[in-house]
Amino acid sequence: MRDRPSMPTVKFDAARVTDEVAEDLLRNILALEDVSSEHSDSVYDAAMRAISVGGDLSALSQALVGIVGMSHRRAAAVSTALWFKASALMDRDRRRGLGIESARWRYSGAPCAARDDASHRAADGKAFPIDKGLQLNGRWTLPGREDGCRCISSPIIKGLEHLDDRNHTHGSGGTQPGHRALGRSQRCAGVR
Ligand SMILES: [Zn+2]
Repeated sequence: MRDRPSMPTVKFDAARVTDEVAEDLLRNILALEDVSSEHSDSVYDAAMRAISVGGDLSALSQALVGIVGMSHRRAAAVSTALWFKASALMDRDRRRGLGIESARWRYSGAPCAARDDASHRAADGKAFPIDKGLQLNGRWTLPGREDGCRCISSPIIKGLEHLDDRNHTHGSGGTQPGHRALGRSQRCAGVR
């Protein structure tokens, strides 16, 4: 075992799959019209395995094809949607743990397959509290939570935000209140 691998690696902490994430995953699987109740347990097991290793979507797709008999195209779409929905909750939890309270909505650029692409496109760049998300078409949602949504978000780090948001004006005095904390905040920004 080496402390510092020479290549950057993404190591996924399976503890991020909390009870809430697991229950949400089960609900999302039970809501799939093409997964019958006799297959839901096997699909849930396969999805849990895929999510617990950080999103092995190819393995999950293969399982959906094998267990349910989905087309490869449908299996890929379902795998991606389950992963994005779980990721949205896990990202929120990780940010909570880092003391990050808000984030900016990022439209993916590719057409978002959510029911209302226009509202997701319009949400790009908007700040939202990580516990609530944004209200789009009367529903509170987080990036990635709607079916087919490929939107993501970037955390808002206190003390760095004034660099990011040019419309937001601090007092024009000689000292900017955010500067003092900059060194520390920049180090925080390195944390995913
Ligand atoms: Zn979206």
